[in-house]
Order: sequence, then C-alpha cells, then structure tokens
Amino acid sequence: MITDYDHLEIRCPMLGHPLNFSYCRTANLGEPCRKILDCWFERFPVENFARQNFSREAMEKIAASPKPKILGILEIVQRAQAVKKNEEATRK
Ligand code: SF4
Repeated sequence: MITDYDHLEIRCPMLGHPLNFSYCRTANLGEPCRKILDCWFERFPVENFARQNFSREAMEKIAASPKPKILGILEIVQRAQAVKKNEEATRK
C-alpha cells in the first residue's frame, strides 16, 4: 500500500529537520521529492516502492534530478586523468 512507509522518519538534508516519508512522497504538489531515492535507499527498498507506486512522469523527474556533487567531482577527475593520459600518449 502506498502509505506503508509513511510513518518512517528521516532528517531532511534540504530542510534541515526531521520529517516523515509521507512528506517525501508528496513534497511537490502531491508528487515525490526528486531526492527520494537518495534519501531513503538505506532505510527500505524505496526504488521498488517508487516503481510500484509512482507514475512514469514522476519516475522520469526523479531520474533526471541533478547528480550528487561527489559524482560531478569524480567525473571531472576522470576527465582530467583521460586528458593527461592522451597528452602522455601523444608525447611518445
Ligand atoms: S526526499 Fe526530499 S523532502 Fe524527503 S528528506 Fe529527502 S530531500 Fe527532504
């Protein structure tokens, strides 16, 4: 049932205070918060829950949400390493 996890509580990283899952799944005018998978994956199988309960449009919005900063930083490092590797290969 869509309300099965509504009672679970978490500290929201955006709002800075505790709230229940019921808020997260309805945070955007009844649609889920775009960070819902990131925030809840350690607590219960939220991805399965989302697939079963959210619309395709809602899932697309979640999937299109910005990447966590650390992923962006890792991509920059990987690109820099690739450029360095290419420079070294062209010198030889
Ligand atoms: S899913 Fe959204 S509203 Fe819920 S805790 Fe995470 S950031 Fe806050």
